[in-house]
Amino acid sequence: MTAWEIKGWCPGALRPMQSGDGLVVRIRPPLGRLTAKQALAIADAAQTHGNGIIDLSARANLQLRGVTEASHGPLIADLGAHALIDPDIQTESLRNLIVTPFRDDETAALAATLTAALTQMPKLPGKFGFALDTGPHPVLTGTSADIRIERSTGGTLILRPDGHPLGQPVTDLPRDALALAQWFVSNGGITEGRGRMAALIAKGLVPPGCSLAPAERLPTPRPGLHPDGALVALAFGQMRAETLHAVAALGHEIRPTPWRMLLLVAAITLPAVPGLITDPADPVLRITACTGAPGCPQGLGDTRSLARDLAPHLPPTRTLHISGCAKGCAHPAPADLTLTATGQGYDLIRSGTASDTPSLRGLTPQAIQDHLKAFHAPHL
Ligand code: SF4
Repeated sequence: MTAWEIKGWCPGALRPMQSGDGLVVRIRPPLGRLTAKQALAIADAAQTHGNGIIDLSARANLQLRGVTEASHGPLIADLGAHALIDPDIQTESLRNLIVTPFRDDETAALAATLTAALTQMPKLPGKFGFALDTGPHPVLTGTSADIRIERSTGGTLILRPDGHPLGQPVTDLPRDALALAQWFVSNGGITEGRGRMAALIAKGLVPPGCSLAPAERLPTPRPGLHPDGALVALAFGQMRAETLHAVAALGHEIRPTPWRMLLLVAAITLPAVPGLITDPADPVLRITACTGAPGCPQGLGDTRSLARDLAPHLPPTRTLHISGCAKGCAHPAPADLTLTATGQGYDLIRSGTASDTPSLRGLTPQAIQDHLKAFHAPHL
């Protein structure tokens, strides 16, 4: 039995989640893109109906925080006026699709086709998702998804079940995606309403026709100028409404990414907007920090202001994860250093996750800074 709450569903805009600072309203950008006008509307809505804080989630969704029961209805009306709201909760929860932010002639059309097909899917677990990763090389392999649409080494479209190295050639995307989802259901992928494709594949089951290898994956992009525009990062995946407002005012289409970055399409210079990180060497980019206390009701300590204080002391190349509790939502994988808040200070874990056995317990922020200085040595 864990000390934290595990949810089998993902919050949306129509079904928000209660958090320590009010309701969290998650907006799933249609086809993974926002026009400048839609982004302005989101910034205004965050300020008017929430507390002005906007998260960028690991699945490239935007979350407005601090919404109240009273402001939720007017917020949905404002967002709905900009085509940012699904017709009902079921459609919203089925639209669990992440789209590559990078340009590809076919991607927009494929995203529209797949989005329409999602309404026909069998009943799938709340966290079950699709990744449309159809550039010449996959970029979303590190992002949570169950069915991946990628290019093979030969450039053809494949459907790859997460956890399996090979994919099926695609002849009809909606029909083939539906068949693969059906295979997942028929083969016992769902237990008590939950389940993920990788767990089913790990049992040794393989869908028919998986014969093509995906093209070699690209490393996670860095902030800076790219052929498609400017990639700008947000510290800990969070920004103020003022930041989004200033970015939207530049007039570019905005593509949220799962890497705590926004792609400003066709921008040819890096914007100088307060709250954006454009230097790929900024140490904040090597720190992951969840919401922590008080924003998360399960948080046992502050995470993000500690992260800002520690950033200048983080040794080059080291990664740091600061977690408000042992659940470790923001970074389930090991980091060089992990600090887990316990309510009695912070536990320090080396090369592990937030729930691993700590090597030091009950550290104060000052004691942590002293330890970070020691990590400047080439060993941990
Ligand atoms: S890891 Fe962070 S965000 Fe997740 S439950 Fe704990 S405090 Fe909340």
